[in-house]
Amino acid sequence: MQSLLNDILTEVQPLIGQGQVASYIPALANVDPNQFGIAVCDTEGKVTTAGQATTPFSIQSISKVFNLVLAVTYYGESLWQRVGCEPSGLPFNSLVQLEYENGIPRNPFINAGALVISDMVQSRLISPHVAMRDLVRKLSGNDNVLANTDVAESEFEHRARNASMAYLMKAFGNFHNDVEAVLHNYFHNCALEMSCVDLARATQFLANRGFCSLTKEAVLSQDHTRQFNAILATSGLYDEAGSFAFRVGLPGKSGVGGGIIAVVPGRFSLCVWSPALNKMGNSLAGVAALESLTRRINWSVY
Ligand code: GLU
Repeated sequence: MQSLLNDILTEVQPLIGQGQVASYIPALANVDPNQFGIAVCDTEGKVTTAGQATTPFSIQSISKVFNLVLAVTYYGESLWQRVGCEPSGLPFNSLVQLEYENGIPRNPFINAGALVISDMVQSRLISPHVAMRDLVRKLSGNDNVLANTDVAESEFEHRARNASMAYLMKAFGNFHNDVEAVLHNYFHNCALEMSCVDLARATQFLANRGFCSLTKEAVLSQDHTRQFNAILATSGLYDEAGSFAFRVGLPGKSGVGGGIIAVVPGRFSLCVWSPALNKMGNSLAGVAALESLTRRINWSVY
């Protein structure tokens, strides 16, 4: 595994820094694009890394996976009455589909879906972003995980589009709490900073039928894990999910901080990170690294 990751790092070297860092969140625009890390965690918890795998970065939309874990814990199957499980085929922050579809977002991994999930969690917890931080600390085994408050505040200042989605859903009766309060928690979740090693560990349960070998606890049932991986495969990479399935063939979730988590069911959880993004908003070098990895050792689930 170590020599495989070293080879991938050499192979993607020319791509590192190609693309654009996310600039619509001002606090993320200053990140050095010339960084790359990868970590693979097996079902026993053994981690192999290459590059800057212990450098923390803004997890952004990868937080939607952990938020969904919290929501499933409280709502079980009834959760799917308020959010769908179909790919959207539209940008992650699109508003148009919500109007046509009566305020029910297509899936929990587009922003509208994640906001409904955040609203549901808000109805059950006094401080959702603290619960989320504690969850990722526990799953990653890293008690130092923190949200970057500059990033969270910068996102809050530029919240107009996310706020519009939440208010539109409120108009359809699919958003119950105060919009600003939910956004505050949502942005703190997105602003959590974790490394590739932290995220590979924290998502290990997805490769392990819901069981986290680090905490020796079931995070999700086997059934819910299967459902999570299916939605990650169809909707985890914005509107590039189809070509990600074609090129990489693994359930995955990306974030505009340049991180991507991916799952080889029954075997490994992975995280790759490089901040410069392709036109679809996914890490350019990260997607290339995952493609090379699955091609070399035939890890695709298809
Ligand atoms: N916090 C970002 C937003 O709501 C998440 C973007 C992402 O990583 O997809 O716009």
